[in-house]
Amino acid sequence: MAARRLDGTAWAARIREETRPRVERFTARAGRPPGLAVVLAGAHPASEIYVRNKIATVREHGCQGELFRLSETASLDDALALVSRLNGDDRVDAILVQSPLPPGMGPDAEQRVFDTIDPAKDVDGFHPINVGLLVQKRPALVACTPLGCAELLDREQIPLSGRHAVVIGRSDIVGKPMALLLLHRDATVTICHSRTRDLPEVCRSADVLVAAIGRAGFVTPAFVKPGATVIDVGINRLTDPADVARCFAPDSLRARQFAQKGSVLVGDVHPDVEAVAGAMTPVPGGVGPLTIAMVLRNTVTAAELRVGASA
Ligand code: NDP
Repeated sequence: MAARRLDGTAWAARIREETRPRVERFTARAGRPPGLAVVLAGAHPASEIYVRNKIATVREHGCQGELFRLSETASLDDALALVSRLNGDDRVDAILVQSPLPPGMGPDAEQRVFDTIDPAKDVDGFHPINVGLLVQKRPALVACTPLGCAELLDREQIPLSGRHAVVIGRSDIVGKPMALLLLHRDATVTICHSRTRDLPEVCRSADVLVAAIGRAGFVTPAFVKPGATVIDVGINRLTDPADVARCFAPDSLRARQFAQKGSVLVGDVHPDVEAVAGAMTPVPGGVGPLTIAMVLRNTVTAAELRVGASA
């Protein structure tokens, strides 16, 4: 039987609507809307799309959303100076620096930039203070993608307490905060990574499996316990026909889409997993829209916390 589809698009729409009264209340009390500043450095086609979606979403829901561009050749000091200026701008409640930064800024540029963002304006929840608060189970601003996954699990009433949750991926952006959010929901959590031995076997013991790897169709049915809930964080654009053939049957809708467009999106979870899992997020239409909804919600939360307009 095909897995129940966990519809991220529908939940994201509902979450976005839930922010509207909060935005209205904040705007009435503060005399201005909540403000998100997005910093985009260099020319990165995927980042352009992400940034456009984030800004359009906050604007559609009554917030101020402004894009600040830095050139591909901008220095790390330029980025730090811009973030410092935004930290000091009282109309900016939330700052988001889109990854990746241009390689010319150096290997530790992202960490340096995230460390410079005022923790109260850290809409992505990457600042060490916000990470520490999450570790201590007193979260303020939490990374948008794992927060969206946790929100989906909560709203779909997927049982977590006492269940085994396995997260594949240990990045600071997705894997680690995801594991903490599951732990705080009383799951027994295993974090896997590229050095994990017997990965399919570990994953097969999961009641809830979260894949955040960055490898197209990596999680096959052999990784999944029948009936498990599978959250697919990965977004991979396939352009090679051989990769497409590995993921999609030749007569499938997605294979036909590839034939028309020359590319197709697939998650880190192979589509065949649908036949084994009990519930599963689609790609696209799963975690992606929830991430954007969480950017909106975190912007409003940051504004309320800063200005004290939630009371
Ligand atoms: P990273 O590259 O930072 O981390 C990938 C993780 O996967 C690492 O911990 C790595 O292990 C692990 N990994 C890689 N290969 C293997 C393997 N063969 N076996 C087991 N583990 C492996 O990626 P992110 O966390 O930033 O993103 C993960 C995915 O999520 C990507 O596809 C990205 O596009 C997507 N994403 C989607 C978002 C959304 O809104 N839907 C938002 C953010 C990301 P190790 O640490 O040992 O190297």
